[in-house]
Amino acid sequence: MFEYKDIYNDLKSLGINEGDTLFLRISYKSIGEINGGPKVFLDALLDVIGDEGTIILTAFPKKHISQLRLLYRRKVYSTFNRPLPTTGAMAKAAFQFPNAKISEKIDFPFVVIGKHSDYLCKNHTFEKEGYWLLYEAANKFNCKCLRIGGEIFIGTTHISFNNVLRANNQYQRKLKYGLYSKINNKVKWRETSNAVFCSNGFKKHIKKILNEVMNVEGKVGNGYAIITDMKKSIELETKSLNEDINSILCDNDNCVICRTSFSFSNNNKLDFLLKQIKRIFSKEYKNAILNIYSLISNIILGKNVN
Ligand SMILES: [Zn+2]
Repeated sequence: MFEYKDIYNDLKSLGINEGDTLFLRISYKSIGEINGGPKVFLDALLDVIGDEGTIILTAFPKKHISQLRLLYRRKVYSTFNRPLPTTGAMAKAAFQFPNAKISEKIDFPFVVIGKHSDYLCKNHTFEKEGYWLLYEAANKFNCKCLRIGGEIFIGTTHISFNNVLRANNQYQRKLKYGLYSKINNKVKWRETSNAVFCSNGFKKHIKKILNEVMNVEGKVGNGYAIITDMKKSIELETKSLNEDINSILCDNDNCVICRTSFSFSNNNKLDFLLKQIKRIFSKEYKNAILNIYSLISNIILGKNVN
């Protein structure tokens, strides 16, 4: 069991400084049990960065497929009745802080504590892109990504990838998800429209830039921790993806995302479908059925997003 002091000391030795702005991607489980739970982790971190520091966490809520929206018409959210985050123990703990601020854009919210929380959350309105808040924090406040546990993650690939898609007139066909929200007494279905990539493609992509953007690595509790420079990673990723957008695609012939969902995916959808139908009669039948389901629902219900 770790105590407040252990976590405080680990965060200090990792190189976190007073006044830092940090985007957190923390697996609480990877750290090990802390006496007092995730809140104590955040207490320690907030004490290390002090009054001039800021922390940002995703607070994404549960959303539903847009075509089924009528089933959810009684669930209407507003800035007074916010949806709860589904993004892990740390986000839930952050919500409990009395000075926590949450994006105005409640269909794609971040929870922010500290110096820049007011500016970032008030300006993250419905008109802005989903990842506007992170992009702004990276560029304006030199935000770093603190990742503890789980797969390597640098917090910027979604931003860079969507920017590159738009700049190159490319898109992804995918299902849209949303929720009802009430603003100025008007109820509206808000749906998000950002593209996503597969985890194997992401791993391949990240290998190319990780060394250049990683500031430090170390341990917090039992968890492996890295800090990366988000402004720099956006620059390098944008360059790399602009040079070759296919570099985000994995090599798996049966990956439904990479092989069929992008405007630059190289496979014929019908060929992919036939290939999956053949796989139903093999050991990989579960994956084949999932692929068939994803492909067909995407063709029928999907929209082009970027
Ligand atoms: Zn893939």
